[in-house]
Amino acid sequence: MAFDYDLFVIGGGSGGVRAARIAASEYGAKVALAEEYRMGGTCVIRGCVPKKLMVFASAFAGEMEDARAYGWDVTAGGFDWTVFRTKLDAELDRLERVYRAGLDGAGVTIQDCRATIEDAHTVRLADGGTVTAKHILIATGGRPFLPEIAASAGALTSNDIFKLEALPDSVLIVGGGFIACEFACILNGMGVKVTQFYRGEQILRGFDGEARGHIAEHMREAGIDLHVGTDVMEMTPDPTGTKVIATNGHELTVAKVIYATGRVPNTDRLGLENTGVKLGRKGEVVVDDWSQTAVPSIFAVGDVTDRINLTPVAIREGHAFADTVFGGRPTKADHDLVPSAVFTQPEFGTVGMTEEAARAAGPIEVYATAFRPMRSAFAGRPDRVMMKLIVCATTRKVLGCHIVAPEAGEMIQLAAIAIRMGATKEDFDRTVAVHPVMAEELVTLRKPVRTA
Ligand code: NDP
Repeated sequence: MAFDYDLFVIGGGSGGVRAARIAASEYGAKVALAEEYRMGGTCVIRGCVPKKLMVFASAFAGEMEDARAYGWDVTAGGFDWTVFRTKLDAELDRLERVYRAGLDGAGVTIQDCRATIEDAHTVRLADGGTVTAKHILIATGGRPFLPEIAASAGALTSNDIFKLEALPDSVLIVGGGFIACEFACILNGMGVKVTQFYRGEQILRGFDGEARGHIAEHMREAGIDLHVGTDVMEMTPDPTGTKVIATNGHELTVAKVIYATGRVPNTDRLGLENTGVKLGRKGEVVVDDWSQTAVPSIFAVGDVTDRINLTPVAIREGHAFADTVFGGRPTKADHDLVPSAVFTQPEFGTVGMTEEAARAAGPIEVYATAFRPMRSAFAGRPDRVMMKLIVCATTRKVLGCHIVAPEAGEMIQLAAIAIRMGATKEDFDRTVAVHPVMAEELVTLRKPVRTA
C-alpha cells in the first residue's frame, strides 16, 4: 500500500521535532508534522526556556545587594514586568521561528492544526481531511493537572504565569515539586510575597533527603512562607483576590493562587480508542524500550509516555525512534543516570541514586560537606552550599552526586559524565582541584560522614 508519508508526527515539541528532522534530513523519509498551538512545545513556549529567563530576571535583586556589599554604588529601582514580558514574548517568537525553519530546512511538511488518529495508518486533520502514513509518532506532551477545587476557583497554572499582564503582589503556590518550588523562588526574587503549601512532609519528594531539607531552609530564609503538611481546604473570591483557608487552620488572602500539582499526558480526544494503543493509569501511552506502542506502526516519545519528563530525554527518545525505524539502527532510549537541575534559588543539580535509595541497596559511604561560598559570604549573606557523593563501599563507584549551589546545574552536567563513565571515589580524589571554586570540594572530600 502506498502511503502519503513515511512518518506523520503529532506534536511540535522537543521530541516530535527531533524525530521529524532526523527521519527527514538524515534518513530521507517523507515526513509531516502537525502542531495545534505553537511550534517548540512546552519547553520552548511555556516551560524550560521562559522559566530560565525568569530565573535570570529574578536573581538581579540579590545580585544588586551583593554588588553594594562589594562596594558598588547601585540602587535597584523596581522590577518592570511589562518590559521583561515584552522581551520574553519577542524571544519566544524568535525561537518558534527557529524551530519552524529547522523543520522546513529538513523538508518536513508542517500542518498548523490539530491532528487525531483515525486508525493504525491514518491521521485526520482539523479541516476534516485525512492523510496516511507508514508510521505515526505521538509526541503530544502533557499539560498541568488541576484538582477540582483549583479549577472551580480559577487558580492559575504555570502556563498562565508567562502571560500575566501584571505581576501580582502576593501569591499562594500549591505543590512541592519542580514547578512549585521554581516559581516560588522566581516570584519571591521578583518581589512578590510568596506563600507555598505542600501536602507532604518535605518539598521535592523523590530527591535526596538532605538536599531537600537544605533547599527548604534556604527558601524560607529568602522570605518564602513555606508550609509543609498543608493543603487548601477552601477558597473563596475576595475583592482583592482569593481568600484561602488551609487544612492547618492558616488563613490568608492572596492576589493569585497558582497550582503546580503535577502534569498529565495529552492523550484525550486523540482518537486512540480507534486503535489498539494501550494507555496507563495516568492516561500515558504505554511503549516498549523502542518507544513502540501496542500497535506496530504507532510510536510515542516524550512526556506523553510519562517516563522521565525532561526535554533532553524526549529529544533522545525522538532521535532513537528515528534511528530505529528509518536508520536501520535499533536504538533504545537510554534512561540511566539522567542528570537534572531544579532551578530553585539556590539551584539544585542531581544525578544518580539518592542516599535513601542507595542505603536500601547498600553498603555505601556518604561524603558530604556544607559551607558558606566565598562570593556570598563576603557579601555577608548566610547562604550555604551543599555537596554530596554517594559511594558504593564495595566497588568504590560514585553512585550519586547532589549539589545545592549557585550554578549547580552547570556543575552536575560535568559530574554526570564522570559518573556515567563509572568513576570511583578514588578517581574523584586523584583529580586536582581547581582553586578557588566551589566545585573543588567534590575532589577534596576526605572522610565519609556516614556509612550504611
Ligand atoms: P511534580 O510531580 O514534580 O510535583 C507535583 C506536586 O504537586 C507534588 O508536590 C505533589 O505532591 C503535589 N500534588 C499533586 N497532586 C496534588 C493535589 N491534588 N493536591 C495538592 N498537591 C498535589 O510535578 P510538577 O508539576 O512540579 O512538574 C512536572 C514535571 O515537569 C516534573 O516531574 C519534571 O519532570 C518536569 N519539570 C522539570 C523541570 C526541570 O528539569 N528543572 C522544571 C519543571 C518541570 P506529592 O509529592 O505528595 O505527590
